[in-house]
Amino acid sequence: MTASPPAAPLFDRFGRIVDYLRISITDRCDFRCVYCMAEDMVFLPRAQILTLEEIYTLAQAFTELGVKKIRITGGEPLVRKGALELLQNLGRLEGLDELVLTTNGSQLDSMAEALKAAWVKRVNISLDTLDAAKFKAITRTGDLPQVIKGIKAAVSAGFERVKINAVILKDRNHQEVCDLVAFAVENGVDISFIEEMPLGVVEKHNRADAYYASDSIKADLRKQFALVASDASTGGPSKYFNVVGTQTRVGFISPHSANFCSTCNRVRLTVDGRLLLCLGNEHSVDLKQVLRSHPGDMAVLKQAIIDAMLIKPEKHEFNIHEQPVILRYMNMTGG
Ligand code: SAM
Ligand code: SF4
Repeated sequence: MTASPPAAPLFDRFGRIVDYLRISITDRCDFRCVYCMAEDMVFLPRAQILTLEEIYTLAQAFTELGVKKIRITGGEPLVRKGALELLQNLGRLEGLDELVLTTNGSQLDSMAEALKAAWVKRVNISLDTLDAAKFKAITRTGDLPQVIKGIKAAVSAGFERVKINAVILKDRNHQEVCDLVAFAVENGVDISFIEEMPLGVVEKHNRADAYYASDSIKADLRKQFALVASDASTGGPSKYFNVVGTQTRVGFISPHSANFCSTCNRVRLTVDGRLLLCLGNEHSVDLKQVLRSHPGDMAVLKQAIIDAMLIKPEKHEFNIHEQPVILRYMNMTGG
């Protein structure tokens, strides 16, 4: 038996503390958003993906190494059988301050109450447009009224915060940013606007043509809303503004126009058990292999996680004008 490494925060070579883990619990999804997936996606066979028990063991190892926040994402996490039970178990992990979830909202109408009871603190729900036809075009299979019902169910369930995530694409939904903020204000939720990242090869739009910078969104919003910079942080890359006279905060996630790598505090676990050290690079360590070749040996697993920190890259290099260097789609790593 290897001696257990001390419970200490995870550090990388650049002095950044890693205390936030995002876990993609499935690559499958009931939607096929144009910026996230190809239309004819091929999903991983079951034997290649982590079991729910393996995900729990990995989460436990990370919390024992000082991780305080876990975000469950996907694909669509809530379509994986057993997702609720997994969240219930994760919510009870010692040392974990925050269990949070990113979802497309399609299942929230029936699941929001149970998720709240499972100690999920905050929920991010993706919504790019309020126009049902556009919603169908962007998600290829999604149903807008179902997602709106899900958002309302999440608000009623009483999560600490509900936030809408909107990926903004020029000439597709950029004209709707004010309507989306008005919707957020009306429903008492926050909203973050995200610049599209070049992950995986997509059809249907050209990423360079579809680029719409956060500053352009801000300028559009200021025609209708008074925004005041806020020092609020949810431990992520969003820069927040308060919408004056409301409870709503507007965030901007700007991987192209405002690089946030120097404060990166996170790593990601892919659905097939790779620990990905940066969303915009391929540096990874195969923790599934470690787990399956040393069953039950927490010390070996923790050491592999500690060692992995040494290859965390300094920053991402996204270039929307070239074919993507990162061939994995967002559903593998979960945004
Ligand atoms: N299915 C869930 C959802 O849509 O919220 C969780 C997984 S999804 C991959 C997580 C987030 O990543 C969503 O807000 C989605 O809009 C965003 N996303 C997907 N592909 C993206 C891309 N290429 N660039 C930027 N954001 C992306
Ligand atoms: Fe599914 Fe989310 Fe990707 Fe859309 S962004 S295809 S909802 S995983």
